[in-house]
Amino acid sequence: MNARAPSTFDNGTFPAATSAAWLTVDLGALVENWRLLSSAVAPARSAAVVKADAYGLGATPVVRALLAAGCREFFVALVDEGVRLLDELGPGWPADARLHVLHGALPGAERDCVARGLVPVLNSLDQIQRWQTLARDQGRALPAAIQFDTGMARLGLAPLDAAALAEAPQRLEGIQPTLIISHLASAEEPDNALNAQQLQRFSVLRALWPHALGSLANSSGIFLGSAFHFDLARPGAALYGVAPMAGRFNPMRPVVRVQARLIQWRDIAPRDAVGYNHTWRAERPSRIATVSVGYADGYLRSASNRACLRLGGAVLPVIGRVSMDTVTVDATGVPADRLEPGTPLDVIDDVHDINALAEEAGTNAYEILTSLGARYQRRYLTP
Ligand SMILES: *Cc1c(COP(=O)(O)O)cnc(C)c1O
Repeated sequence: MNARAPSTFDNGTFPAATSAAWLTVDLGALVENWRLLSSAVAPARSAAVVKADAYGLGATPVVRALLAAGCREFFVALVDEGVRLLDELGPGWPADARLHVLHGALPGAERDCVARGLVPVLNSLDQIQRWQTLARDQGRALPAAIQFDTGMARLGLAPLDAAALAEAPQRLEGIQPTLIISHLASAEEPDNALNAQQLQRFSVLRALWPHALGSLANSSGIFLGSAFHFDLARPGAALYGVAPMAGRFNPMRPVVRVQARLIQWRDIAPRDAVGYNHTWRAERPSRIATVSVGYADGYLRSASNRACLRLGGAVLPVIGRVSMDTVTVDATGVPADRLEPGTPLDVIDDVHDINALAEEAGTNAYEILTSLGARYQRRYLTP
């Protein structure tokens, strides 16, 4: 699963002289974040959502670290993600851990789910019926989570289908419902009335299957209060340092650091322009530094003329268009002896983190994380 995350544990050299940009994942900070979320929801428990290769950070090292910390409930989006993760973990996957598949099994994938012990999240009467058919074939009850749509209209049983299921319990014969889940559409906005509405709808549905566990809160949902916690929280983003509440203090520790090397610099005259399509023009004599990171590394083009890199304490604004492999920054005032070729600049660090970069690039930190490219040399700091 971390095919795009070559481990650098072995070679001892980090960053390699040949690495132009590198990414550090602090698994200790990740584990601390999981512990913080776990204590926030206690006595409920906290799962970990590791879909999309753990939001781009490498599902295998992330899951290993969380298993060691005691996490036992995990969620991926796809059957394929689950299978690859289990293949990579091998005997490192404990028998008492559970791997849920948020999209459920698409037609034809049910047997692979059972064979690998993946627990599907059943999202429709159709998925329920196919899971039931398989349970009959196998002559045993098969565990599954069931998702209800309480106001997002994305995944899960629509209200009419939920009613149909409640009225016809035989539809679940042969299925052992382990988890009743729903997903919040605006949880990062604590004042949004949708939160209370979804909570109310979920509470009604959840009560229909009292023997299953209830699970509603994603990262942000955890911070809406204990009414949202039920039995199991499902944080993803906050584990990786994403701020759970828009515009409020971020209690999560940063997990990701990205650095990239300076390639060259030049001094330009007033009226000289920089980069593709000349979207930035100097108003004064300026020093321009070119750094080895670009949109092929997930440094989004929308960061053009908006974001910044850091060199020591200095903030160097991104000027001109972000290119595929490079970005240009305004280094006016930085002395030449601090701009040696090969000098590392901070692209994402603890001060200017994924949340700050997301704001500058006009997106959310989820997209910053999942865009992180395959070209970085990667290092995992173990707890
Ligand atoms: C992605 C996802 C989560 C995790 O959400 P975060 O906002 O990253 O914490 C939880 N539940 C479902 C159904 C999801 O799709």
